[in-house]
Amino acid sequence: MATKRAPRKDIAILGGGSSIRRFLESFFSGSRAYKPHYFKEEAAFLRHVHDTPPAAVITTEPHLSAVADKITRHPVIALITGDIEAGIEAAINAHAKCYLYKPYFSLDLEHKLESVILEKDLIVRMESELRELEEIADLTRLVSATLDPREVLYRIVKKIADIMPVTRCSIIKVDWLNRSAFVVASFEDPRIAGLKLSLKKYPEIIEALTSKRAVVIHDINTDPLMKRVREIILPLGIRSILVIPIFFRDRVIGTLFLRTSRSKHTFSQNEIRLLNTIASAAANSLHNAFLFEQVEDEKSRLEKLAITDYLTGIYNVRFFYHRIIEEFSRSQRYGLPISCLMVDIDHFKRVNDIYGHRIGDEVLREFAMLLKKHTRQSDVLARYGGEEFIVLLPQTARDGALAEAERIRKCIKQHKFRSLKNKGGVTVSGGVSAFPHAKIKSHDDLISFADNALFTAKNRGRDQVAVFGE
Ligand code: GH3
Ligand code: MG
Ligand code: MG
Repeated sequence: MATKRAPRKDIAILGGGSSIRRFLESFFSGSRAYKPHYFKEEAAFLRHVHDTPPAAVITTEPHLSAVADKITRHPVIALITGDIEAGIEAAINAHAKCYLYKPYFSLDLEHKLESVILEKDLIVRMESELRELEEIADLTRLVSATLDPREVLYRIVKKIADIMPVTRCSIIKVDWLNRSAFVVASFEDPRIAGLKLSLKKYPEIIEALTSKRAVVIHDINTDPLMKRVREIILPLGIRSILVIPIFFRDRVIGTLFLRTSRSKHTFSQNEIRLLNTIASAAANSLHNAFLFEQVEDEKSRLEKLAITDYLTGIYNVRFFYHRIIEEFSRSQRYGLPISCLMVDIDHFKRVNDIYGHRIGDEVLREFAMLLKKHTRQSDVLARYGGEEFIVLLPQTARDGALAEAERIRKCIKQHKFRSLKNKGGVTVSGGVSAFPHAKIKSHDDLISFADNALFTAKNRGRDQVAVFGE
């Protein structure tokens, strides 16, 4: 097997008489480390240096002084030909890294080339580290300046995509207990935020979660971890994957999830280090996003609880009051009709007596579901208390309300209650009040007159609907 050798480093050489040329040619001939490029003309030399930056430059006076300003980014070795003292002075003035004077020794040149190139590499690395630090400082500023944790997470993925040639970049929120994972921020497509991931399809994420370490898949094609899912991922054109766990305290609460396409590079150690730092910066925001969501969920659960009747799951009377006040004043203001329907199960006490209270409860639940099914989306249906229900019908006049009440009465009468072993026998009485009406001046009037009408229906023999004032 052939051992892989580092590519030869380009050395750009400008000028020099025949003796220098002979020395250099013998020095470079057969060199495994360096590849010389000789130039006589300054212009051609500068073009070359600009297009293909060399590892180092070797030159002599008077070229050195002439080009010095234009090659400050490259380490220069000066070969002094004439007067040594003047040559040294010129080399120093032109900021050459070092110089050789006659007699030249190969060993000397070898050593100087090595050290200037090493120094240059070090500077390049330090510059890149400085850039990384600047990016991190930038990110920290941005994380602390933004309040919305989701916005922070989005900015983080955007930043990563800015500084690294990744094709896809997301932050995944993981709930390890429930084995669930969600995309909380994604650079390539903000719409996929909230997308649920099936962890089974992401062995690399599972590996990062269980090992609590960064997982690098350099090549999907060859990595054994990806064997099971290779067929699914390959068509996406992805080559490398990087998963960095995000810790909150010592718990993994999510991951950075980056992928690069086949044409792009795989991840370097430097990038992985930088991403680890970014992951720690993201941890607080991700944790906050979690909390935020929990609080929101809990809030909406409580809100729902506060307006729901515990037995039937429909609205409670408290919510009904809230809505009738709103709707009644709207009707008054705009002269719109509005009606109220009160329904009460006939002889419900008997149901309890015959079947027991528990079955009675089930009948009430089934009854409520029937009402829900037979009222309109715009109606407000609530349990008024016991076996009494109330329906608010916004923008509905007397005839419409009566029709709806009759429809409900008939369907209850025909319904075979499951809780009563599919026997029927449940009837209902209803009372309707409708605004505008001379006597109805408030939402309370609307309710109490519906109640009056219900009383009339009961008195007239039940299983019927009465309209207030008729
Ligand atoms: P009417 O036709 O006059 O309305 O007769 P009724 O028996 O339905 O009326 P009444 O108001 O005398 O009795 C209502 C009964 O409804 C009394 C109570 O036991 C029952 N009830 C009220 N709330 C519940 C409940 O939440 N669950 C059960 N199982 N029964 C209830
Ligand atoms: Mg009753
Ligand atoms: Mg009653």
